[in-house]
Amino acid sequence: MISMKNVYKTYGNGVTALNGINVEIDKGEFVYVVGPSGAGKSTFIKLIYREEKATAGDIVINEKELSTIKEKQVPMLRRDIGVVFQDFKLLPKLTAYENVAFAMEVIEAPPSTMRTRVLEVLDLVGLKNKSRFLPDELSGGEQQRISIARAIVNRPKIVIADEPTGNIDPDTSWEIMQIFEEINRRGTTLIMATHSREIVDTIRKRVIAIENGTIARDEALGEYGYEI
Ligand code: ADP
Ligand code: ADP
Repeated sequence: MISMKNVYKTYGNGVTALNGINVEIDKGEFVYVVGPSGAGKSTFIKLIYREEKATAGDIVINEKELSTIKEKQVPMLRRDIGVVFQDFKLLPKLTAYENVAFAMEVIEAPPSTMRTRVLEVLDLVGLKNKSRFLPDELSGGEQQRISIARAIVNRPKIVIADEPTGNIDPDTSWEIMQIFEEINRRGTTLIMATHSREIVDTIRKRVIAIENGTIARDEALGEYGYEI
């Protein structure tokens, strides 16, 4: 489902963020990406949804070779990938419902299926009753649940989350994790960068640790492994 071979990423300022990454992630896996700040976790994640391009190496996502993909094919690639950000990135003037529906409008989904699907995913994240609320009328945890609903509404094969619990309190974080586990149980590949030792050591999954732009550990049921 996701394959990287000898992948390097050097930014325009000369910083090498990834220094020879080799990894295979299969359909349906749940993977934590851990490591110190500046290790290259976000860059690793951005390469998967083509927010950044690799400087060298081969990346294959859902059988698409990213180095040869044309710019106009990028939206098709992204259709298979839902992204959840630490800071939610909801559109502030749209309601919860509209934020989720917008993701379907962007891919020109048939309007007939829209309402049902949006309500279905709002229900899955437990926020059907707040569909008319604006983001700033919702708590951080609720906003994150809306952003998860947005990420899954088009039924992507892969969900990527970059520190999804970074801005929410610990109790709410467990609720968010339950939603991710449910999404994964339904067959979606889930990749989550996190600094939460509690989460990684409690809900045990595959752990890929990135240090100085390389994979330092890759363990089937791994541990967080850092002091904080
Ligand atoms: P992490 O997510 O593990 O904190 P990042 O992938 O964000 O690591 O960053 C890895 C390295 O790349 C860091 O040295 C960071 O400063 C650098 N970096 C990240 N994004 C950019 C960018 N857009 N331009 C230049 N350097 C960047
Ligand atoms: P940009 O690359 O300039 O952020 P996009 O059109 O890719 O513009 O995305 C616009 C907004 O839509 C992003 O800020 C993000 O919040 C959201 N978004 C984009 N792609 C996804 C995705 N695959 N899953 C969830 N939200 C997404």
